[in-house]
Amino acid sequence: MSCNHIYFDHGATTFVRPEVIAKMLPYFGLSYGNPSSIYNLARSAKHAVDSARATIAECINANADEIYFTGCGSESDNWALKGVLSANKKKGNHIITSAIEHHAIISTCEYLEKQGYEVTYVPVDEFGMVNPADIEAAITDKTVLISVMFANNEIGTIEPVKEIGEIAKKHNIYFHTDAVQAVGHIPVDVEDMNIDLLSMSAHKFNGPKGIGALYIKKGVKIDNFIHGGGQEKSKRAGTENVPSIVGMAEALRLACLEMEEHNKKLIEYRDKIIAEIQQTIPYVKLNGHPTKRLPGNVNFSFNYIEGESLLLSLDLKGISASTGSACASGSLDPSHVLLGIGLSHEVAHGSLRITLGYENENHEVNYLLQVLPEIVEKLRAMSPLYENVLKENK
Ligand code: PLP
Repeated sequence: MSCNHIYFDHGATTFVRPEVIAKMLPYFGLSYGNPSSIYNLARSAKHAVDSARATIAECINANADEIYFTGCGSESDNWALKGVLSANKKKGNHIITSAIEHHAIISTCEYLEKQGYEVTYVPVDEFGMVNPADIEAAITDKTVLISVMFANNEIGTIEPVKEIGEIAKKHNIYFHTDAVQAVGHIPVDVEDMNIDLLSMSAHKFNGPKGIGALYIKKGVKIDNFIHGGGQEKSKRAGTENVPSIVGMAEALRLACLEMEEHNKKLIEYRDKIIAEIQQTIPYVKLNGHPTKRLPGNVNFSFNYIEGESLLLSLDLKGISASTGSACASGSLDPSHVLLGIGLSHEVAHGSLRITLGYENENHEVNYLLQVLPEIVEKLRAMSPLYENVLKENK
């Protein structure tokens, strides 16, 4: 997007596409009506919200009346977990999730545990893959909800969502998936995958920040999240964020329309970066699944360096990337995802996440591949640990 900066942090957020901004603008201006009002000015806003709901539903094979707008992916996750558990207290108090969920799920589960609910955190394998058999084994007669993410935000692993959905259906348990990193990037079909609730967020697919949605399958028992007016069928009160709702729908429509074309390019770049890093830099480990991973995700651990130093050095070269997840950066704790796939604290600390977007170009990838080995070598040259390794190998 910008001329002197290379953006490789699309897992954190994305720019808003110009076509999306163009669709949003009228709803800040002439069409500023409140969708709940009944006069003509409001009708165009109401129509825009209805039409956005239908567009978003179509992209995940849902019905329009099963899409509820929220303020972000984190809100959708909070609502799904808290809302389903509190509405189904008579059925049980147990939730099953994975050990590598986003903090929006993990922290909500920890909150729920404090409220007396029981949570099972199912571990993952070395690639970050949940084993559906482990989910099934964790089911008790008190289990109300299974929540497993569609694709991991740090290491890109795509989880066996359809298999988990089948297990949930067989046992008559609700299935929620945090699909914030998946929607708009890989095919999502709530019907085919037996998904009862699904979280999404517009800023991950070139839509605006501060707008998300929760898909709630018809018939799911869930408590209302924000009490107030009658918006979102009284389940999530608050005057609708019309421009952002319109922007979210347009961004998702374009992302789904262009998915195949974008993914061809992203997979080509992703695999080129992975192969070159493995060939040119020693003592590295690819994190995440080798093939079942998001088209734009690369995550490596570089032994004997700190991820933060790597990030700063890349930034000095005009490249934005990330260590682990943006939401957790700033904290010195190693990522629970990287620890969850079995990395030691030291190795986890030396991780770099590169997340590509459709606007990235080949010359940007080449530039990264040119500067990265030099940076890694320079940083390792300052490491006494690495010096020892070199001495031992002499
Ligand atoms: N879930 C996942 C998997 C994410 O990657 C993120 C954001 O990074 C969220 C939830 C939270 O989404 P939001 O930033 O819209 O609250």
